[in-house]
Amino acid sequence: MSDREHEIYDVVGIGFGPSNLSLAIALEEYRDNGRANGGENGRAHDQENEISSLFFERQPTFGWHRNMLLPSATMQISFLKDLATFRNPTSSFSFVAFLHASGRLPQFVNNQDFFPTRQEFHQYLEWAQARVADRIAYGSDVTSIRLLPGAVPELSDRLRLEVADAAGRAGRVVEARNVVVSTGLVPSMPEGTERDERVWHSSEFLEKYRRMNPAELRRVAVVGAGQSAAEITRFLYDELPHAQVSAVIPSYGYSVADDTPFANQIFDPGAVDDYYFGTDQTREAFWRYHRNTNYSVVDDEVIRDLYRRSYDDEVRGVERLQFLNLTRVTGVKRAGVETRVSLQVGPDAEVRELEFDALVCATGYNGMEPTALLGDLDRHCLRDEAGRYRMERDYRIVTDPEMRCGIYLQGGTEHTHGLTSSLLSNIAVRSGEIADSIVARRARKADVR
Ligand SMILES: Cc1cc2nc3c(=O)[nH]c(=O)nc-3n(C[C@H](O)[C@H](O)[C@H](O)COP(=O)(O)OP(=O)(O)OC[C@H]3O[C@@H](n4cnc5c(N)ncnc54)[C@H](O)[C@@H]3O)c2cc1C
Repeated sequence: MSDREHEIYDVVGIGFGPSNLSLAIALEEYRDNGRANGGENGRAHDQENEISSLFFERQPTFGWHRNMLLPSATMQISFLKDLATFRNPTSSFSFVAFLHASGRLPQFVNNQDFFPTRQEFHQYLEWAQARVADRIAYGSDVTSIRLLPGAVPELSDRLRLEVADAAGRAGRVVEARNVVVSTGLVPSMPEGTERDERVWHSSEFLEKYRRMNPAELRRVAVVGAGQSAAEITRFLYDELPHAQVSAVIPSYGYSVADDTPFANQIFDPGAVDDYYFGTDQTREAFWRYHRNTNYSVVDDEVIRDLYRRSYDDEVRGVERLQFLNLTRVTGVKRAGVETRVSLQVGPDAEVRELEFDALVCATGYNGMEPTALLGDLDRHCLRDEAGRYRMERDYRIVTDPEMRCGIYLQGGTEHTHGLTSSLLSNIAVRSGEIADSIVARRARKADVR
């Protein structure tokens, strides 16, 4: 048994994207508040307010959808919906604080734009994570969460996590009183389509694209009708002036994302309560009326950019940008360096086979799925009639009553907490609620002792 096996934390985070970064900040600010309010008893407060934590991230360094950091892509939320502001408007971890530290605050304001580029938001996230770096282990893949060996749930207030290093070697084992799973969305490919060096999912786009010689990309296709599909289509059209770019769209054309003020209210922190405590009927209404704020929709600006390019081509008598509407991919075959794609095209579902040098599937993601990670522990987690995890309002999985450890989810809770579950809009408030819950449960346990 190595020394490391004795590491015990109040909270272990699995995955270190924006959600758990926001939680790390909430815990940091909780400790700092304790210090500030501690006065002469500062040391005692320090101990009370110290929630020990460690976050594991499988990537070697911080990275937020790096393969989609396309040059002109912008955020789909206001810069004020950052890692902390909605929870603590005076936080030193806000986007405004980052701009100030970077010497760009006046210039940003002059720009009069609520939506920074994704590249700038990524810089902000990197700046924030560097300030809590002592609590992050990069290159660390959590492979399992279990009860302590030999323990029965009611006797164990700790879970045991196994962690592999970047080379896949198992080794590190830590114990946690609470785990917060935030492993992100899972890329989804069209049925029967396998990824390879010329068939890519959008989540790997820039990495795969950069491996190619652009001159060899003369016919490329992008499948999908959402934001990523439209952004990649625009990118390829601009980057490859010699290439024909085909957009394979299941709908009749791109639909616009509704980000008008009334619709935007569904991303407000208060909407989580309305969803969580609502009836099945009201929850269904959220999805029926407001799916178009996020799913299979595209920002107005990108739609107009693409249409303008297509129209300009028409005026010049070239057909470099091709929109295959009402079209579905039915099969993909590799033939040397060529990719043969079978399609059902247009209103008559005409069957066609086209050849491309690269095919990008911007076909979306499935929700976060922690079942495999939970392994045997999963049988202590309760599910609803549809087989989904039952969730407490504080984002904790409802477990057998005797389970004393907390298993929290950041993501994968659309069915209980609504549309913001996989988005950034509410992460500051959500992380604050999770931090408060961990603190409150610790206090209750101390009272019981
Ligand atoms: C291209 C793109 C743009 C987007 N833009 C927006 C936007 O503008 N606004 C918005 O609200 N939402 C946006 N989203 C939605 C997106 O879900 C959120 O932006 C955000 O990534 C959610 O953060 P997260 O921390 O929950 O998950 P992620 O950012 O996905 O982070 C999860 C992390 O967990 C790590 N991980 C997974 N499994 C393990 C494991 N077993 N052990 C250790 N680490 C692990 C992964 O490497 C990853 O870094 C966008 C999504 C995409 C794909």
